[in-house]
Amino acid sequence: MRKNIVAGNWKMNTTLQEGLELAKGLNEALKGKAINCDVIIGTPFTHLASIAAAIDTDKIGVAAENCADKEKGAYTGEVSAAMVASTGAKYVILGHSERRAYYHETPAILKTKVELALANGLTPIFCIGEVLEEREAGKHFEVVDAQIKESLFDLSAEDFGKIVLAYEPVWAIGTGKTATAEQAEEIHAHIRATLAAKYGNTVADDCTILYGGSANAGNAKELFSKPNVDGGLIGGASLAVDKFMPIVEAF
Ligand code: PGA
Repeated sequence: MRKNIVAGNWKMNTTLQEGLELAKGLNEALKGKAINCDVIIGTPFTHLASIAAAIDTDKIGVAAENCADKEKGAYTGEVSAAMVASTGAKYVILGHSERRAYYHETPAILKTKVELALANGLTPIFCIGEVLEEREAGKHFEVVDAQIKESLFDLSAEDFGKIVLAYEPVWAIGTGKTATAEQAEEIHAHIRATLAAKYGNTVADDCTILYGGSANAGNAKELFSKPNVDGGLIGGASLAVDKFMPIVEAF
């Protein structure tokens, strides 16, 4: 059985103090509440250890937003998967379109990051998604297939089973322009078929596929009602407890 997940991606927002306050607010809001999904918060590296220590409900897992493509050593300014794991974080967001576009992360680099994350016991939340021109040209299916194949399809079925996918159409990220629930369902079903062709039906059925891109309290229920949409990766609406909680409760 696959898990439903609502994951926040804070991006480069909040000071440590602001982030801690937000995390503690979520922690309090979720304690003693019956929910039907796992909650993850993706925070800057600087916040990971303090936030992981401040959370005292097992309903919330902590994610880094990136990790290095090297194991350790003379890579000034980089943060390794082992370092992330040592903070108490359990997840790492990899392949976000902002990392691909602004920091030139190629499919090969991302493949290495995924492997290092898994080797260090982290669950990768691996992002895929097309830009507007690709969608308008009808190429979105082949674009996401290529992103999955190039970075993930050398994994064993066992390791692939540890991956969470996040479909995030780039044209919907931070734009207020959400994919319709039908558009999300169509491509999520396609992605699951791609996984089934490679790894078989069980692995495909068990893979959690999140939707991301201007998801919010107003559209989460409809998106999550689709059979192949197993939750969301939430940017802007994850930065306040009163915006994020209704999304968590949309399941
Ligand atoms: P958004 O960001 O919810 O602000 O569109 C989503 C993401 O980039 O993960």
